[in-house]
Amino acid sequence: VLEFDINKIRRDFPTLNQTINGCPLVYLDSGATTQKPQSVIDTTADFYTHKNANVHRGRHSLSENATVLYENVRNQTADYFGVKNNEIVWTKGATEAINLVANGLKSQISENDTIVITPLDHHANIVPWQVLTQQTGARLAVMPLNSDGTFNIPLCCGFIEKNKPKLVAITQASNTLGNITNLNALITCAKAMGSVVLVDGAQGSMHLRPDLKTLNCDFYVFSAHKMLGPTGLGGLYGRYELLNTLLPYQTGGEMIQTVTLTHSTYRDAPAKFESGTPNIAGVLGFGAALSYLTQFNHDQILKHEQNIFNYAASKLSNIEGITLYSDLNNNIGTLCFNYKDEHPYDLATLLDGYGVAVRAGHHCTQPLMAHLGLSGTLRASFAFYNNHDDVDQFIKALRESIALLD
Ligand code: PMP
Repeated sequence: VLEFDINKIRRDFPTLNQTINGCPLVYLDSGATTQKPQSVIDTTADFYTHKNANVHRGRHSLSENATVLYENVRNQTADYFGVKNNEIVWTKGATEAINLVANGLKSQISENDTIVITPLDHHANIVPWQVLTQQTGARLAVMPLNSDGTFNIPLCCGFIEKNKPKLVAITQASNTLGNITNLNALITCAKAMGSVVLVDGAQGSMHLRPDLKTLNCDFYVFSAHKMLGPTGLGGLYGRYELLNTLLPYQTGGEMIQTVTLTHSTYRDAPAKFESGTPNIAGVLGFGAALSYLTQFNHDQILKHEQNIFNYAASKLSNIEGITLYSDLNNNIGTLCFNYKDEHPYDLATLLDGYGVAVRAGHHCTQPLMAHLGLSGTLRASFAFYNNHDDVDQFIKALRESIALLD
């Protein structure tokens, strides 16, 4: 285990060490995608420089080596999440993983079934379920949410008991507010009703390092690029017995057992869901990302993240005219806010002039915006590589930007 040294960590991330518009970059958009440590970049380049070959195909050394390295990362990912290696499917992101499940379940959903979604979730965990209910005639039911975007657990459990859903789709942490969902309570209620539970871990997978067998969900999706890994890669965990019953979402090479001109048989999961040539360099890069992450004690990372988050939250709430929407006591490190009724795009543009990268808009959560009665917000999302200087520069830039607007 490596000692958590923030200055050393920042040197490991080349993107952080640059100026934008003449100012040191303050990267507060890790909720969209995290920056990559040098080891991830090097691993990807090394694959293309020395190791490039397709996996699961050739009988030559390069291909066999690539296959071993590729499958080792599946093992590493399974270890990270506390599951079995045949329960991990590679996809191009969390979005594709949710679509894979929604499509794969089609033959198991009928018009008598109910699927529960929440108003809090990312569009990626809403639209595929709308499509599935439209295609099957099943009912879509929306979980109740408090007016501030938090869950009232007894109310939600009552809702689950009443609806007896076939499936509950819910996020581990909100990408807009950063609020952490009380999954233990909700999954316990859903399991008591016999529901299948899909958890969107896009935001929680790095910050919360979940043990999925303890969490007891059936499906869990994640994006490698939000965990220090390359873009264009993500994955799905599926409880094996259930995963293997899903229909394949895409068909073609590598996922088959036998093919004749009129009929084909499929391999078992995970191969059944991985047709075509995968993102091999991305997978190897993700292996380096997991190695980087797990070299630190998770508690030390969390302590640092909480420290920076609390510092930023208190500075931000001291600025007159700022409204904060995030639950500050239960958060992965995301501050969602507005200044008076200024348009978030204007402030985000001004902040960029000071080298500060934040996101502005509806954050792919239009139903949540409607629920909160907002058209958009600013979002500053932190990761463990942010430091106190980032917060100071952000707050100074915000104060100066506000002065320009007022
Ligand atoms: N769910 C959540 C909560 C997210 O934050 C995101 C990414 N913004 C996604 C799903 C989709 O992830 P990807 O774009 O990597 O498919």
